Amino acid sequence: MNAKQVKEVKSLLAKPKHIVIVTHWSPDGDAMGSSLGLYNYLIQKDHKVTVITPNDYPAFLSWMPGDKKVIDFSKKTAAAKKHVAQAELIFCLDFNSLKRIDKLGDEVAKSKAIKFIIDHHLQPEDFAKYMLHNVGACSTCELIYEFISLMGDKKLLNKDIANCLYTGIMTDTGSFRFPSTTTKTHAIIADLMKAGAENSEIHNRIYDGNTVDKIKLLGYCLGEKLTVMKELNTAYFSLTDKELKKFNYKKGDTEGVVNYALSIEGIKFAAFFVERDGIIKTSFRSKGSFNVNLFARAHFEGGGHANAAGGMSPLSMKDTLKKFVSIVPTYKKELTKK
Ligand code: 5GP
Ligand code: MN
Repeated sequence: MNAKQVKEVKSLLAKPKHIVIVTHWSPDGDAMGSSLGLYNYLIQKDHKVTVITPNDYPAFLSWMPGDKKVIDFSKKTAAAKKHVAQAELIFCLDFNSLKRIDKLGDEVAKSKAIKFIIDHHLQPEDFAKYMLHNVGACSTCELIYEFISLMGDKKLLNKDIANCLYTGIMTDTGSFRFPSTTTKTHAIIADLMKAGAENSEIHNRIYDGNTVDKIKLLGYCLGEKLTVMKELNTAYFSLTDKELKKFNYKKGDTEGVVNYALSIEGIKFAAFFVERDGIIKTSFRSKGSFNVNLFARAHFEGGGHANAAGGMSPLSMKDTLKKFVSIVPTYKKELTKK
């Protein structure tokens, strides 16, 4: 957003409006943190605000202020459609391609509302009038903080906003350890803590609410399902629907599993394949210069960031893994570069 656009947006937000906030499919900490952080900011300016998710999200994210009012499009489709149709402004957070919000994308595309993208993923599509987009930002939550600052409203930062934004920054930076974590990130975190963010409590809520089933599923993955392609510095896991059922799978139970593969010494590329509703969802992570956004785009109908991306495969699990194992060696040079 340039200075002229900032002025325009300020005047748009000066009077109460019907506002819808949407975020990506299978919302994560940054998706929910940025959506509810923005929600808790906008309601202070007397706007009528509705957060809509394309589908459900894990229970460990269901405590943020405003959560009870979130509408799940896959469950309350009619109500969600009504809100989108009434909206004067639509904020699209933590995604930049309407494909990422599934059928909710058709409603957003149809709507005459003024659209905003606030996001940090690579290669944004051009469907919004206003864009606060920075691939250098560690999270969309960092950009929501920036948005509130640009609006001249830092005085409105309160505990509710701070808890939401802290959550997204913490989860998207892997608890402040990924290279995307900068001095700016820490300066923002300091400000959020001054505004009341309950840092330790948030960490507990997100990471220490594991069920026994989830821990056992992780143990099974690590003990039985890890494959290491040592000469390619690559490691991967896979889980079928049947395996998930054995461990009474609940949404969020496989979150973070891929990082264990990446934590192995020397591994530069980690992948995770999980069967859900008849398709294979893929997660890719890398260390260093191997670009998983390009890999996901080229082979698995996906995208994301240079070091964290995702996608899908319509093939069976067996054929998906066969495809993966046959493609990886074509990247040998990049994967074995010192
Ligand atoms: P995850 O592996 O945690 O699902 O996703 C990692 C990153 O890739 C996230 O930033 C997420 O937004 C992005 N991502 C995951 N799945 C997809 C996908 O199917 N398409 C695109 N474009 N991005 C994805
Ligand atoms: Mn994000």
